[in-house]
Amino acid sequence: MTETPNDSTARPTADPQHERADWVSRLADDVIAEAERRGTKPVAASGISPSGPVHLGNFREVMSPHLVVDEIQRRGLEAEHIFSWDDYDRFRKVPAGIEGVDASWAEHIGKPLTSVPAPPGSEHGSWAAHFRAEAEAGFAAAGVRYRGISQTEQYQAGAYTEQILHAMRHRREIDAILAQYRTLPAAKDDDEELQKALDASSGAAAEDDGSSGAEYYPYKPYCTACGKDLTTIEAYDDESTEMTYSCQCGHRETVLLREFRSGKLVWKVDWPMRWAYERVVFEPSGVDHQSPGSSFQVGLELAPVFGWQRPLGPMYAFVGFGGVAKMSSSRGGAPTPSDALAVMEAPVLRWLYARRRMNQSFDVAFGSELQRTYDEWDALLRKAAAGTAGDAELAALARATSTAHETLPETPRRVPYRTLASVVDITFGDEEQVLRILGGLDPEEPITSLQPLRPRLDRVEAWVGTHMPAEEHTAVRSEPDRAALVALTEGERDAIALLLDGGQGLPAIEEAWTLDGLTFQVYGVAKVQRGLEPGAMVKGDKELSAAQRAFFALLYRLLVGRETGPRIPTLLLAIGRERVRELLTLAP
Ligand SMILES: [Zn+2]
Repeated sequence: MTETPNDSTARPTADPQHERADWVSRLADDVIAEAERRGTKPVAASGISPSGPVHLGNFREVMSPHLVVDEIQRRGLEAEHIFSWDDYDRFRKVPAGIEGVDASWAEHIGKPLTSVPAPPGSEHGSWAAHFRAEAEAGFAAAGVRYRGISQTEQYQAGAYTEQILHAMRHRREIDAILAQYRTLPAAKDDDEELQKALDASSGAAAEDDGSSGAEYYPYKPYCTACGKDLTTIEAYDDESTEMTYSCQCGHRETVLLREFRSGKLVWKVDWPMRWAYERVVFEPSGVDHQSPGSSFQVGLELAPVFGWQRPLGPMYAFVGFGGVAKMSSSRGGAPTPSDALAVMEAPVLRWLYARRRMNQSFDVAFGSELQRTYDEWDALLRKAAAGTAGDAELAALARATSTAHETLPETPRRVPYRTLASVVDITFGDEEQVLRILGGLDPEEPITSLQPLRPRLDRVEAWVGTHMPAEEHTAVRSEPDRAALVALTEGERDAIALLLDGGQGLPAIEEAWTLDGLTFQVYGVAKVQRGLEPGAMVKGDKELSAAQRAFFALLYRLLVGRETGPRIPTLLLAIGRERVRELLTLAP
């Protein structure tokens, strides 16, 4: 192999410091250098078998190459993201939790995914088409563009015929390579996480290598009679390409492989062949591909059989999820990008994948934690606006909000997600009321229409309706709790008077009617009662903290009839000035 050329003058780098601020830019450097070394353009590949819903873990297989290719394109260089839909893979098992699909679908096991009927009610022609379309809708909404390649179309069009014949000619060499790994203990590992991945994987890593028959063949026919791959090659002639196979269904025939279109290379050979065919330079893979004997490892030695080298393939770690409500997790298990995009904006979802290095695992939050994700996102945007964000943060932000080709929809006016959630929850989503409450949020720049709050508001509405934890839903009292108001202690009555009417440095609550103003007000009450300035900075005063907590608990009881609820300033805003005063005052 040649040395890596010195390419320091080769790239137009407008702002090198910024470009190398994060893992994506560093990886892009590696991919560019590797492509130059191979004398080809930077091609990054994703590959997914549409055997069921493409969940947020699989999405890392898509996002990682996407981000790297996008970075290269931002530099004004040519790069391509190809997406292999492994829809000619066999249907291995009937996935649980797909609506309308029961055990009877086992009759299709062994057929290519494109020959299995779509789940009932689908508008698509096959199982593969159904799950591919579902996934692609989510990818597009997240700003991910690529060249999609159907392996069924490729194989059936004869695109790989030369490669298939080549693999058959070199079958003994291939067999010898695979044999080294077959003698290794099966990929059982003490590492629990790895084992989980192996067990849960769609089968890419655990894929058979074609070693079942008497002689080794790297090719598996799909029987032309029953459509399944329960076939065995009985004879093959390299000269004529005449192949005889039999099937468990009883069918047996002799065909010319150079003209035959019903079958594919076994996975472990198929993947390296396509690296060569598409000249792939970069294809990250999951932890399930990193064990000895896995397809990615074996590919190191198999790619040269096809005149190529295994691409750069860093491992990506798990993406989990938290707080998914039952209603969506019952539909085929883990949530998909579309599920996430129903409750969060595309830039936020992109940001979650862009900000973590590939070897770090993370969770996409669907429960209350989503509100914190949004707090962090808003904090980043404020830092960016103030010029205090770091280079890596700015890089992740840029990757989240735009690509080389488009700017993703953003919400012009960013009211905190948790504030919107409380307001939407309390008003049952009545937009007239939502606008009335939010209209008072910022007197300097009043909100007069909900339009600038979208699409964030739409996501919040969906979240409150689907994923907001039941115990966090808040019901505001319809009328004051007279008994409780009558029974208030003198200190409590004094605290409520300070909250509503101010005094001793506190304004009347109407004048404090912003998130910051109300925060100052509600924390100030207990301070004033203890003879402090309302804005005094107090640290480590346990009695003060206890007094503040007791005051908040009192407010929760009087306003929502519980001991807890959304943050008090948010809750007050959500309830509205008039209602707050009404609920905290004993009517004459
Ligand atoms: Zn058959």
